[in-house]
Amino acid sequence: MKKILVLGSTGSIGINTLEIARTFPEQLEIIGLSVNNNIDLLQKQISEFHPSAVAVRDKRSASELKNRIGNSCEILFGDEGLLELTRRNNYDILLSALVGFAGLAPTIEAIKLKKRIALANKETLVTAGEIIIDLCKKYAAELIPVDSEHSAIFQSLIGEDKSNIKKIILTASGGPFLNKNKSELENVTIKDALNHPNWKMGNKITIDSATMMNKGLEVIEAFWLFNLPKEKIEVLVHPQSVIHSMVEFCDGSIKAQLSLPDMKLPILYAISFPERYYFDTINTDFKKINQLTFFEPDFDKFECLKIAYKVIEEGGTAPCILNAANEIAVEKFLSGKIKFTQIPEIINDALNTIAIKYNADLQTIIECDSITREYLIKKLN
Ligand code: MG
Repeated sequence: MKKILVLGSTGSIGINTLEIARTFPEQLEIIGLSVNNNIDLLQKQISEFHPSAVAVRDKRSASELKNRIGNSCEILFGDEGLLELTRRNNYDILLSALVGFAGLAPTIEAIKLKKRIALANKETLVTAGEIIIDLCKKYAAELIPVDSEHSAIFQSLIGEDKSNIKKIILTASGGPFLNKNKSELENVTIKDALNHPNWKMGNKITIDSATMMNKGLEVIEAFWLFNLPKEKIEVLVHPQSVIHSMVEFCDGSIKAQLSLPDMKLPILYAISFPERYYFDTINTDFKKINQLTFFEPDFDKFECLKIAYKVIEEGGTAPCILNAANEIAVEKFLSGKIKFTQIPEIINDALNTIAIKYNADLQTIIECDSITREYLIKKLN
């Protein structure tokens, strides 16, 4: 029996994870859940999965939940409650599906307990990649990617010597604006940007897909996970999202992992690895897939992707600044305060203004995140 702690259980990844737990009741047990404030869904999840404790970030929602369910399940609250939940040594796998920078601190707690980290929160590696990778080595914690592209690469590398990698090819759907030209992006609406062609995901990552910042964050994530120079990490637009990513080896051979797009597969693999469980939900029928197409990404139209490659080169806290600025810019876009095309402008502004620190420890990264947010919130209000 594998015991799982799910952080972010009411988001799209969290819901899919619980769907998997529901499918494998003999193998998987849900030990704990955490949410931001969606206590209606959390309440249903508690009555179905009976976790020993849950954490609710929003304090008022936590007390409302307590009024509803009494002492039938322990309820922790706030950032401290979330950390306390992860510090309990009662689980095997931390499924981290929190949104944004909030995913970093609890992941570190789980690493220190030598747990398997099934990582869906890419911002953890983007902001603190070096620290996280070092900590995983130090504590012998397993880090298994849930992001579909990185799962594909991870799977393609099984049994391979990493020194034989010529390059990795991260595929990208291209998002909803693949066929718009640069000037048309000026006037796209929130609704247009939230209309992703292949994946149904949370709002933050859907906007990141529309700007292609999601792919930019994934390039940085791959840089840390697979320890490759940025020249060996290529992005290829593949609108059908059937090839989830590829690895080209030194002899010219290429391995890929394919399926119809469904996040349940990479989640399941991160949980079952090194085993595979029998799972009959996703049936990829090539006879029904007419064609697979590929394009070079347009770095001029999708400036966020270009910025992501640039911050890898800059190193230090540059990716942390990029991430914080992107989170603020996406929030402002979703609340109707800025235009879609201002997102990369805001990120560039932050990168040009906030001082980059090198050899940063965790405290420096946390400070850099706050400084960037404060600067932009003040400026954009
Ligand atoms: Mg992805």
